Amino acid sequence: MLPFKGRNRVTQIFSTKHGGIDIVGDDSTQISSVTDGTVDLVQFWDGKTKSGSQSYGNLVRVLTDDGKYIYYAHLAKIDVAKGQKLKCGDIIGIMGNSGNSFGAHLHLEARTGKKTSTRISPSQICSIENTKGIYCETDSVNITTDTSKINAISKGMLIELDSIDLYVSATASNAACKKSGTFYIYDARVVNGRIRITCDKSYVGRKPVGRFVTGWINTADISEN
Ligand SMILES: [Zn+2]
Repeated sequence: MLPFKGRNRVTQIFSTKHGGIDIVGDDSTQISSVTDGTVDLVQFWDGKTKSGSQSYGNLVRVLTDDGKYIYYAHLAKIDVAKGQKLKCGDIIGIMGNSGNSFGAHLHLEARTGKKTSTRISPSQICSIENTKGIYCETDSVNITTDTSKINAISKGMLIELDSIDLYVSATASNAACKKSGTFYIYDARVVNGRIRITCDKSYVGRKPVGRFVTGWINTADISEN
């Protein structure tokens, strides 16, 4: 589960210097819970303090059923209350710029206890990678395998495109641009009649998908040869 619908853009990764992953919702500012759990803490920002616990700004902390703490920080709006039970995907609030933040984003942090020394990478509790890039949820869309086409399409297959529509996601309604030239099939998953391509063969099937994948094209645009 990812916190935003559509594109989740990782702008800052988890490290010894940064306790969480910073994510910008490019298509939606609404933040969903990435786990089941209970709202364990709601903190409101005083509007000025940028240090201590106030550095997190408007903050929601969720205690997961297996005892981990998930921090959703810098929110513009909080849509849950302390003690509230959450299911994965339930709305927590709106992305914002409160606390010690420069530009609207979500600081997603995970801990195995309450102390900062128990921080773990949020990539261990949700489907975001600890690498800068763009991640999209594909689990919520219907994944169909068009066998008439897929037999001819295989992972890593070289394709030549001649001014073909390229989309940023499997569900984007408008094409981002036209692509021509040599590309490779990223994997053999057909989602909503589209398939991902990459411009570099060495990125075929590699994680993270994010920026290494050029985009999505309609399988109908792939001509068999
Ligand atoms: Zn951060």
